[in-house]
Amino acid sequence: MDEFELLLDLHKGANRQGPGGDSETEKAIGLAGIDRNAPLKIADIGCGTGASTLTLARLLNAKITAVDFLQDFIDVLANRAHSNGVDEKITPLCASMEQLPFKDEEFDVIWSEGAIYNIGFEKGVADWKRYLKPSGVLIASEITWLTSSRPSELQDHWSNEYPEIDTASAKINILERSGYTPIGYFVLPEHCWLDNYYEPMRKSFDAFLSRNGNSEEARAIVEAERHEIELYEKYKAYFSYGVYIAKKLNE
Ligand code: SAH
Repeated sequence: MDEFELLLDLHKGANRQGPGGDSETEKAIGLAGIDRNAPLKIADIGCGTGASTLTLARLLNAKITAVDFLQDFIDVLANRAHSNGVDEKITPLCASMEQLPFKDEEFDVIWSEGAIYNIGFEKGVADWKRYLKPSGVLIASEITWLTSSRPSELQDHWSNEYPEIDTASAKINILERSGYTPIGYFVLPEHCWLDNYYEPMRKSFDAFLSRNGNSEEARAIVEAERHEIELYEKYKAYFSYGVYIAKKLNE
């Protein structure tokens, strides 16, 4: 297996592929002012194995197109939708977030948890706006600095991983400049990282390593993940995911 296949193997058994939580998804629904009874059309972009998709399907009267460019994740999501009895609400779609097969003004809501960084926050919010109806709402979580300065070890790590990492004020400014009205923001609490994402991952390392013959490549992946977890535990006062909620301006 190459590195990509190993990463897929590590992550596809998980409930989520990034920090988040069901109650935080529900909180964002509230802040966005989404009517739970309205027959909405939602796109969940970079859905992974569908943690947020399933919560949206459970709570809302919506048709959700769940998009990821990895067919393996989409297959897991489709199975989970079926076993949760919500497959009628969910259309799984294997596509790239950079080339979405959507029509202009097709959606009431665009949802994206822990995924917009793959296209870059600024490009994502600009490119996806056309798919929102007038006054449609964008909800996106994005890694965010919680303070105006931070230790250089942390700065160096994340600037290298994702140069667009920035403060909430900078992200909100991007939304304003891109034709949105920011209507809500909150920070994902620690349990979204540790209990919901890193702990389950940590528990899966031994099985992952033995499945993959304890290969050097598999061990390198576990080491990189462990390093990321250590950085989080050491520096969690300085960064988290911010959840950004913004309404499309009617221009
Ligand atoms: N929303 C999920 C997954 C977050 S991880 C959760 O919160 O658990 C980011 C996801 O984005 C992964 O599933 C990855 O496969 C997907 N992704 C990365 N680049 C992509 C692209 N160009 N197009 C579509 N999906 C992409």
